[in-house]
Amino acid sequence: MRNKVSDMYQEMGISEKVFHVGEKLEGALKDRFKSFDDNAEYNQLKVVNAMQKNRVNAECFHYADGYGYNDPGRDTLEQVYADTFHTEAALVRPQITCGTHALALALSASLRPGDELLSPVGKPYDTLEEVIGIRPSKGSLAEYGIIYRQVELLEDGYFNYPAIEKAINEKTKLVTIQRSKGYQTRPSYSVEKIGELIAFIKKIKPDVICMVDNCYGEFVETVEPSDVGADMIVGSLIKNPGGGLAPIGGYVAGRADLIENCAYRLTSPGLGKEVGASLGVMKSFYHGFFLAPTVVCSALKAAVFAANLYEKLGYFVIPDGSESRHDIIQAVQFGMPKGVIAFCEGIQAAAPVDSYVTPVPWAMPGYDSDVIMAAGAFVQGSSIELSADGPIKPPYAVYFQGGLTWPHAKFGILMSLQKLVDAGIVTDEMLQRI
Ligand SMILES: *Cc1c(COP(=O)(O)O)cnc(C)c1O
Repeated sequence: MRNKVSDMYQEMGISEKVFHVGEKLEGALKDRFKSFDDNAEYNQLKVVNAMQKNRVNAECFHYADGYGYNDPGRDTLEQVYADTFHTEAALVRPQITCGTHALALALSASLRPGDELLSPVGKPYDTLEEVIGIRPSKGSLAEYGIIYRQVELLEDGYFNYPAIEKAINEKTKLVTIQRSKGYQTRPSYSVEKIGELIAFIKKIKPDVICMVDNCYGEFVETVEPSDVGADMIVGSLIKNPGGGLAPIGGYVAGRADLIENCAYRLTSPGLGKEVGASLGVMKSFYHGFFLAPTVVCSALKAAVFAANLYEKLGYFVIPDGSESRHDIIQAVQFGMPKGVIAFCEGIQAAAPVDSYVTPVPWAMPGYDSDVIMAAGAFVQGSSIELSADGPIKPPYAVYFQGGLTWPHAKFGILMSLQKLVDAGIVTDEMLQRI
């Protein structure tokens, strides 16, 4: 069998040397991979349990159009999400176009003029800067008279509790906590750490709404922020919970009164959750949510495999090869543009879609440097699928995530290494370190 696999790799452009490096490393990560499998096993049961409890049946997959009144598929799915995440309610809709939209929805539904929004974890995700109005933007929360405060993180990337206590005042209505580091260098937070932060905030002001940006975090642990006091958790269906099958969508899960506000904001006051036709996407939402725990498991194996591979080759990686995982993003610092480009070329070359395309850095809107992106995805921009991107600026790091299956993710990472070897960036001597 082994020989056959290596032949196949060779046929697809992976040299024998690179293949053997991969085999050796995978063997060394056996225990680590087992812990991800165990985590997926628990989460798989959690999802199936919620589906069974809500008596999911073929009727749930029917097409609904028009106003979308009485859509049992949509309503049942929302209860499945709520039960999986242990919340009172959820809003899971194709009309929520992406993660940023879901976050903007949850914020604008909860905040009123004069209210204060607090981020106790430093700067939020880039796209939220315009939602909040940190960068002036049309229709931002700032335009509606919502005040924003931010408490910077300590040197170690964790919370400055005294400063947070000081920042909370009678106007503080909502606290937003981002679980994943996104494209920053701070740590991603464990659910446990988020729970401690929420407990601290609630002790100072019990009625403050604690919202967690859960993007890239779903099913990485056996608990979610909603298990440790978050009033709302928010995410994108073209990341973890869509399992690679959802073609669009976002969710908000949490306290029933807050979700009701979100529904009134998403559709219209008075209409709320009652409208919003699901236009045939329900089957992919259920199917994707069912697969999500094992898909996230593959993405975690990919992240840890890449971390260990590039760390051993001598590159700086965040998180490092042995750290516990709280999201699916892996950063590898190459220190030179050529490294970033070769890595992304490898990920693209291994893709099931658009594998023949060569990615090149370009001036993407919203970025202050050229960016190279590798994404041969079935769903445009889906980052639960194997994908990578790197801004062409120091420290020349590539951010890598996803992988619907472990064998494909492994192939992608080995292809990235192959491209680095072919470009003469990774030498034979470096390969011998593994
Ligand atoms: C991806 C992401 C978002 C925004 O989601 P989009 O779907 O890209 O709009 C927000 N926060 C975090 C932490 C993310 O990873």
